[in-house]
Amino acid sequence: MVEFFSKVAVEAKASDVRELLKLTKIPGMISFAGGLPSPDAFPVEEMKGVAVDVIDKHGYKAMQYGTTEGLAELRTLIKDIMAKRHVNTDISNILITTGSQQGLDLCGKVFINKGDKIACESPTYLAAISALKPYQPQFVEIDMDEEGMRLDHLEKQLQSEKIKFIYTIPDFQNPSGRSMTIERRRAMVDLANKYDVLIVEDSPYSELAYDQEAYAPIKSFDTEGRVIYLSTFSKIVCPGFRVGWICADEKYLSKYIILKQGLDLHTNQFSQYMIENYYSKYNMDQQIDQIKSLYRTKRDAMIEAIELHFPKSVKTSKPAGGMFLWVELPEGIDSKALLPKALEQKVAYVSGEAFYPNIPKKNTMRLNFSNSTVSEIHKGIKILGEILSEALL
Ligand code: PMP
Repeated sequence: MVEFFSKVAVEAKASDVRELLKLTKIPGMISFAGGLPSPDAFPVEEMKGVAVDVIDKHGYKAMQYGTTEGLAELRTLIKDIMAKRHVNTDISNILITTGSQQGLDLCGKVFINKGDKIACESPTYLAAISALKPYQPQFVEIDMDEEGMRLDHLEKQLQSEKIKFIYTIPDFQNPSGRSMTIERRRAMVDLANKYDVLIVEDSPYSELAYDQEAYAPIKSFDTEGRVIYLSTFSKIVCPGFRVGWICADEKYLSKYIILKQGLDLHTNQFSQYMIENYYSKYNMDQQIDQIKSLYRTKRDAMIEAIELHFPKSVKTSKPAGGMFLWVELPEGIDSKALLPKALEQKVAYVSGEAFYPNIPKKNTMRLNFSNSTVSEIHKGIKILGEILSEALL
């Protein structure tokens, strides 16, 4: 059988996290493992009316093939969203994708030849590693600190080897919850210009800022059209519709459009109409404020429970937004080895090693706070605290 597979398929392995997510379906399991938004944030009632409107107004078009670029009305809406995010652009610079995840795969298709080097934060988004790996790049991991990717380390790499693009998640990063400061965003563009490298800015969480306004995107400092900006409606409306976008200079976007045709020709027309009509019918600032207050409460509950129950030698990030919190255990403690104990007591988390493309730091873990209730958060963190205290004895 193996002889039928491509080399890429032979090397493709099911991710531990996807396997783990199956366990989280067990009744009673408190899961900090996935990256799921809270269903309480989904506008189910509102969408009933929107669906009827879409069928009444656009029924035939919603059921027909569309253009690869996506609905002009939705791209116009995204142009306005981008303006609010301090990026002035035109709809010719916007391509609708089947979630940001498709945007990531397309980055591989458009830019990566086997062996090309791409720089990324260490740790980085697990499913970006999975999306890009089949194109066989070499990942160059760049350390992070509380202010995001370490640009001094990045510059050393840029001086010594040719990097194709820098992949970064600057806002409330998945998995670490950290954000890149404004100074670093500006400086990263300067580095990209100096060393002739592209930046892929993956920003699904920027609007989920709980403590202060989100920082302006790296794209807003782009002076030479080097930043490919990816975003999505998954966290601010719902992920099930699978609608995301890429905002990039036309010289790059034209290739994304051609290569997307081999994947799905175009993004789901019905979903695009649903999102566009939802935005025109409802006050989105209010809707997003509701999601933010829901998640802020959960984030605060998790931080409070950690302060109460985790041993003091365990370090945790204090994310100002997004959906994740990052935990660093003392050196030598393997978070994966502790997972069976947690699962036995019906608590799931993701061991941090999955988020490193080359050199895993085994003493780390990612905790998701958006998908559990406040009481589950208190209960689950208490159990984890007991497991960690025992391991650190
Ligand atoms: N990038 C990052 C950093 C993410 O966390 C996610 C969602 N987990 C995505 C991209 C993909 O989002 P989408 O649902 O739009 O495909």
